[in-house]
Amino acid sequence: MNIWSSLVTLGGKLLVPDLVVTQPIWCLDVAMLQQRGIKGMVLDVDNTLLGNREREVSPAVKHWVSQVRQQMPLWLVSNNCFHHRIKTIADSLQLPFYANAAKPSRRCVKRAIEAMGLEPAQVAMVGDRLLTDIVVGNRLGMYTILIQPPAPVEGTSRLVREGEVWLARLFNANYPSCY
Ligand SMILES: [Mg+2]
Repeated sequence: MNIWSSLVTLGGKLLVPDLVVTQPIWCLDVAMLQQRGIKGMVLDVDNTLLGNREREVSPAVKHWVSQVRQQMPLWLVSNNCFHHRIKTIADSLQLPFYANAAKPSRRCVKRAIEAMGLEPAQVAMVGDRLLTDIVVGNRLGMYTILIQPPAPVEGTSRLVREGEVWLARLFNANYPSCY
C-alpha cells in the first residue's frame, strides 16, 4: 500500500461521519438513533446548538433537549475556551459540560462517555465540524453525526468549514451539496 492510499484509508476512517444531517439538530431523528443502539449523545455547542455569535439557544433547541434528555444522557463538549459562555448555555439547558476540550483530543469526550456509563459505540458525537467533532468521534469509535448549523456561518469559520469539506470530498465524494 503506498502513502497516498494509506492516507486515503486513514482520512476515510477519520473524516467521514456515519450520518450527515442537512437540517439543524432539532430535526435529528432520535428514535432512529435508538433503533441503532445509541443510548447517549455528546453535543458540540457553537454552530451546533446555536450560532457562534448568538448568546442564547433558541426555543426549538430548548424543546428538543428537554425531550431527548428524558430518553438518554446528554453532555456538552465544546472547544470554546470561554468557560463562562459554555457554562451559561449548559446551565440554561441543565446539562453537564466540558469547555476548552481541544477536540480532536479524546480526553474530555472520553470522560463524558465514562460519566454516562456507556461504551463509545453506544454514544453519538454530534457536531458541525469534521476536523474536530467527527474526527474525535471516529477516533473513539462513536457513532458520528455531522449536522447543519442552526444559523448561517460567516467569516473565518465559514472558510474553515469550506476547507474541511473540500478535504473530506477528497476521501468521499458523497457529501450533500449544502455542505
Ligand atoms: Mg462547532
